[in-house]
Amino acid sequence: MTLREALNEATQRLASISDTPRLDAELLLAQALGLSREALLLGSLERPPPSAFAELVARRAAHEPIAYITGTRDFWTISLAVSPGVLIPRPDSETLIEAAIDYFGSSTRGGRGPSSILDLGTGSGALLLAALAEWPEAQGLGVDASNVALEVASDNATQLGLASRARFATGNWGTGLSEQFDLIFCNPPYVELDADLPAEVRNYEPQSALFAGADGLDAYRHLIPQLPPLLNPLGMIAVEIGATQAAAVSELFVANGLTPQVRQDLGGRDRAIVHFSLGLDGKGR
Ligand code: GLN
Repeated sequence: MTLREALNEATQRLASISDTPRLDAELLLAQALGLSREALLLGSLERPPPSAFAELVARRAAHEPIAYITGTRDFWTISLAVSPGVLIPRPDSETLIEAAIDYFGSSTRGGRGPSSILDLGTGSGALLLAALAEWPEAQGLGVDASNVALEVASDNATQLGLASRARFATGNWGTGLSEQFDLIFCNPPYVELDADLPAEVRNYEPQSALFAGADGLDAYRHLIPQLPPLLNPLGMIAVEIGATQAAAVSELFVANGLTPQVRQDLGGRDRAIVHFSLGLDGKGR
């Protein structure tokens, strides 16, 4: 059998469980060969496949997410190591980075950016590290209840050359923090306990990063009241939400003296609630 035939066979096998079976097969074969996908596709496909490939395809066929099999996922401009102890970063969460760039300006366009960033429930470190990569002067703190997650996040910071600007701490959202930050991110768990989730998510991703009570709002009720004292006077907050939660989470913002605005993801679904201390014309660019 050749690589080409092995790819075709794996694509057919994965078609019933994945929307992107060819891409999945290519990523798994690249992983088995220790190559990037680009290098795989540029090389000869007439060689025999490595023995490890079949096992990776079998794991994917059992619904294991590609990111846990390959151990990595791209987010914004960075690549992150991920393991089953952390939520896999999703493009949806880039909505929060985009909102921050709207407010502070992109460093490539001369925006000074935030000096200090807090990421509550940092997981793999995705939001914090993408923002530190965006603004070279910024420093940040990532908080998580999971020490496994903090280890992943801290390794990612080192891998990305951001360790000197990133600190990590175990914590329960903002409890016990006394500093103030220019930019606060939070992607808390927000899924309803009985939600109908794909097997990829429900059977593989950490429950503590997904579920937040019967209505999915438990984490917001706990953490949103903690945010105002953690925010610098000219700063901004961006909190990720589920597509049906804009009204409920906006209400919690208002009840805590914040001014909520709803932001949509690239699919047009409500994906974040933000609070800008200054209007966009008054921002500190
Ligand atoms: N967006 C994730 C999902 O739909 C949920 C992530 C979260 O709860 N923060 O699976």
